[in-house]
Amino acid sequence: PLVTDTPLPFPELCARIHDRIRTFLDAKNVSDRIRNVQAQTRISLDVIGEALEQYRLPELSLSYNGGKDCLVLLILYLCALHKKGLAQIPNPSSNIETAVQCVYIQDAHPFPEVEEFVVRSSKIYSLALLEYAKPMKAAFADYLKDTPLVKAILVGTRRTDPHGEHLKHFDPTDSGWPAFVRIHPVIDWHYVDIWTFIRFLNIPYCSLYDLGYTSLGGTTDTHPNPKLVRQPSPPHAPQTCDTNGTLKSKFRPAYELVDDYEERLGRDR
Ligand code: FAD
Ligand code: MG
Ligand code: MG
Repeated sequence: PLVTDTPLPFPELCARIHDRIRTFLDAKNVSDRIRNVQAQTRISLDVIGEALEQYRLPELSLSYNGGKDCLVLLILYLCALHKKGLAQIPNPSSNIETAVQCVYIQDAHPFPEVEEFVVRSSKIYSLALLEYAKPMKAAFADYLKDTPLVKAILVGTRRTDPHGEHLKHFDPTDSGWPAFVRIHPVIDWHYVDIWTFIRFLNIPYCSLYDLGYTSLGGTTDTHPNPKLVRQPSPPHAPQTCDTNGTLKSKFRPAYELVDDYEERLGRDR
């Protein structure tokens, strides 16, 4: 895997991620699917690079909920920090122990698997994560009060998400929202691009995706994606266990879905 649960010192972590992404970008004679993701990766790294020119680190944050899209965004951000020479341990006399400020808004009915992955990934990537349990607008208003230097927040929204259609790489929040700049480096990635990247780089991800969940909300409104239900096997067919002898899930893993517009079929709203 790209990383393990034993956290690396931050500069080494970012250097390692940068190396692996370099290798990915340099891969030749690849499928069209991989070539597309290579192109999207370059665009996203340029956008993040621009953000790092425009803002100082204390002015930047990342909106992180343990989902696949902001996970890819996080990995690209760490790569870009290395590239810009910003992955050193900050001034030792300051009490900031990481370069990556994050904000996580807990769902009213969170999945334990999501919570667990947020904690696990915060350790792996040394995230300075502030958590809020309230509706989004109120949460961001509190977050800006608690981190008054933050001016811009990286968000993993994609074009096919609700409200994603007209977003640019940089957008101020809409009126009625706390004022900051939203940065959308992965806006034009497709669902398959996200999974191609995660699987090529072997990035650990939230366990719910292996159970057929393709979009993560709360426990009351999120189900495995019906498109991923396994075909019933004929009686007596030896199909209920995988090669490790563990019970097979009724659903295929999230990375087997392809169509962007089928991603939310496991969501009630
Ligand atoms: P998801 O794929 O679940 O989320 C897309 C991305 O949003 C994630 O990759 C992650 O970066 C972020 N995100 C989603 N949920 C959380 C969470 N619980 N905690 C932390 N990050 C999360 N809507 C407007 O109409 N106008 C706005 O100006 C506006 N500003 C926003 C600013 C930020 C920083 C965020 C996170 C959301 C904002 N929204 C705004 C809401 C946004 O349009 C989506 O409704 C919201 O992100 C939920 O996304 P989703 O579930 O559709 O997709
Ligand atoms: Mg998403
Ligand atoms: Mg969501």
